[in-house]
Amino acid sequence: MTSYPPAESTAAFAANIAAVRARIDAAAARVGRAPSDVRLLPVSKTVPQERLRLAVAAGCRELGENKVQEAKRKHSEMADLDVAWAVIGHLQTNKAKDVAAFAAEFQALDSVRVADALDRRLQMLGRSLDVYVQVNTSEEESKYGLATADVPGFLAELPAFSALRVRGFMTLAEFSTDEARVRACFRRLHELRDAAADPGLGELSMGMSGDYEIAVEEGATCVRVGQAVFGSRALPDSHYWPTGTETTPPR
Ligand SMILES: *Cc1c(COP(=O)(O)O)cnc(C)c1O
Repeated sequence: MTSYPPAESTAAFAANIAAVRARIDAAAARVGRAPSDVRLLPVSKTVPQERLRLAVAAGCRELGENKVQEAKRKHSEMADLDVAWAVIGHLQTNKAKDVAAFAAEFQALDSVRVADALDRRLQMLGRSLDVYVQVNTSEEESKYGLATADVPGFLAELPAFSALRVRGFMTLAEFSTDEARVRACFRRLHELRDAAADPGLGELSMGMSGDYEIAVEEGATCVRVGQAVFGSRALPDSHYWPTGTETTPPR
């Protein structure tokens, strides 16, 4: 596992962001893509607001969080700053009202129930929200997201939710040191997008600190990078991606 040094100053953040950006640009160039077609979304989960303020001073205008409670707290703590918040983790219907209220985008849509809950809240607020459909391209049971076979049927349901602006697809690749297996996940997402053949669904959010260069080579338009920008997290990934089934409260 690569270890990433923590950034503790605006200059250190600027350097980390520039280094990641240079690698994105190089990966894009290798496959003949325009670097400007790839957005770097810094993922700030577990990082306290004191350090986030340094990152914002270094130029971050968007931050990604995988837990709604944490994102909501930081959004209000940092309300004085011009930051767009992206929720990139699984959402339970009872938290849809929070996401509808503060998020600029939601990248982990994987059920009609959540689409419906978000849409109702957004309609009440007179807002709309950019969303990405999360796909479980590795087909591991522990991961959230739709099975690839269920994607076309799911997409067909979404026009009913007019406050959701569906932009494209999101995935987490298999956690593997075998590059071919990781690449295969990104390819699967790219193929799904092509199969959808809808110019409105052009976005591919894929790639994290350990694999974003591969993702860019495979067509990512958004990479979600945490540790390479903010430094290594203390806890293992299993802490952030809980396994097992969850129970959702009745509506
Ligand atoms: C944490 C997280 C990332 C970023 O992972 P890093 O290893 O910190 O780059 C990307 N996507 C999601 C959904 C995450 O929860």
